[in-house]
Amino acid sequence: MSEAAVVNPVLQGLYIDGLWRAGGEQLTVINPSTEERLAIVTGGDAGAVDDAVQAARLAFGAWSKTTGAARAMILRKIASGVAAKREHLMTLQSTNNGKPGFEAAIDVDDVIATFNYYADLAEAADGQQNRAVELPSEDFTARLRREPCGIVGLIVPWNFPMVTTAWKLAPALAAGCCVVLKPSEVTPLAELELARIIAESGLPNGVFNVVCGTGLAVGAPMSEHPDIAKVSFTGSNAVGVQVMQRAAETVKGVSLELGGKSSLLVMADADLELAVELASGGGYFNAGQMCSATSRVLVAQELLEPFLQRLVAKAQSIKVAGPLEKGTEMGPLVNQAQYQRVINHIEAGKNAGARLLCGGKRPAGQTRGYFLEPAVFSQVPLDSALWCEEIFGPVLCVRGFNSEAEAIALANDSQFGLVASVVSGDGATADRVANALQAGMVWINSPQVIFPQTSWGGFKQSSLGRELGPWGMQAFQEIKHVVRAV
Ligand code: NAD
Repeated sequence: MSEAAVVNPVLQGLYIDGLWRAGGEQLTVINPSTEERLAIVTGGDAGAVDDAVQAARLAFGAWSKTTGAARAMILRKIASGVAAKREHLMTLQSTNNGKPGFEAAIDVDDVIATFNYYADLAEAADGQQNRAVELPSEDFTARLRREPCGIVGLIVPWNFPMVTTAWKLAPALAAGCCVVLKPSEVTPLAELELARIIAESGLPNGVFNVVCGTGLAVGAPMSEHPDIAKVSFTGSNAVGVQVMQRAAETVKGVSLELGGKSSLLVMADADLELAVELASGGGYFNAGQMCSATSRVLVAQELLEPFLQRLVAKAQSIKVAGPLEKGTEMGPLVNQAQYQRVINHIEAGKNAGARLLCGGKRPAGQTRGYFLEPAVFSQVPLDSALWCEEIFGPVLCVRGFNSEAEAIALANDSQFGLVASVVSGDGATADRVANALQAGMVWINSPQVIFPQTSWGGFKQSSLGRELGPWGMQAFQEIKHVVRAV
């Protein structure tokens, strides 16, 4: 997009109590395909966070008492508002994030499905409120209530900005909470559009507020604000730890969705073509910028050579180009910092003795934009950063194994435990391996499909808590029992 095509380059980044406001800081938002400026978004500070929290406090009394049915109506209106702006939101995902059209469509459709799902849950909750609890005594009765936990702070990253927002925002509103949302300063455009949709949904002023800004200016004061009951954070482990430390001062609830170093296991009886497709999707979707990237590919030794040949051919066939260009399969990385970080990992991996079989460099002829050819490594040392750390780029590390036990041990040998994939022609083998993997989600012979009905989150240092499903809503609820003597 050229500078001339920028329609509204300065956007107000604060939506507080139903009103748009400018913040004092100017955040430059770029198009990673062209390195050109898309917009300037004004960001807030601790004062803006406080204003948003005060607005939320005033709104909480009435909003927390609405019925689930009333909340469901608004959530469905948001879902249909998103559906009505589907094309526009897809374009924002493509221009601000570099996502090709088919990926941008998956994101927007996921957002719609998430708001509709939590509308259903909010409605169903009305029938369960005050449910009688069976007691081993005739002298007492008890009933169970679930109540909104209060004002919640939602802090989201840049890799799936709309989706990570929807996974928190929809259940928080369904539960009856009031919200302060902080988008990533790298990709705030989709959330600002979502806020415009929400502004038209009939949600009372102050229930939903947005404060754009940097992590230190906005995320940190949110994490320690005494009137925020809970912070739900998705991002890096380093920042997640800081959020938790700041939240500890006021004994806030904290949910964390953090990094991953996940594996795809190709068992000896796997369909090779399917395995290559799934490895490519698990490693290169969103240019590998996925917490759930299956960046370790473990292959039964007898399949290793043919698998590598096919995977390299597949990686080399992927069209890496601007996301709005026809036929593009992989767009750019999100910005210069991320691009350099991935290049540094690739160089360090080569220096550590890993063998780069293809990719890992700027595609020929691309002079602008953060484009990187998908990379395949083999012979990666087990103690190298390439093998152990989250790369967050289009880099696959492939390794052979000699037994099922070795494959499971290699996959589980990580501080993370977010997801895993198994490719096997035998149902019993696939189930046995899936059950042995330390991961919150395991796909068998499947791409990384995610339904709002299943949980999202992982073992070990990948997560604290779970999103999606009923667990996603319970994360924003307090449990109360009322016991009466009869
Ligand atoms: P990040 O941790 O740098 O930033 C995430 C958010 O936190 C941003 O909004 C940022 O402004 C804010 N922030 C930064 N410093 C802060 C501070 N001191 N206090 C409070 N907030 C602060 O992460 P990122 O680079 O935007 O995203 C990439 C990371 O997110 C990767 O590690 C990835 O694995 C993780 N991620 C995890 C999931 C999951 O579901 N587990 C999903 C997507 C991304």
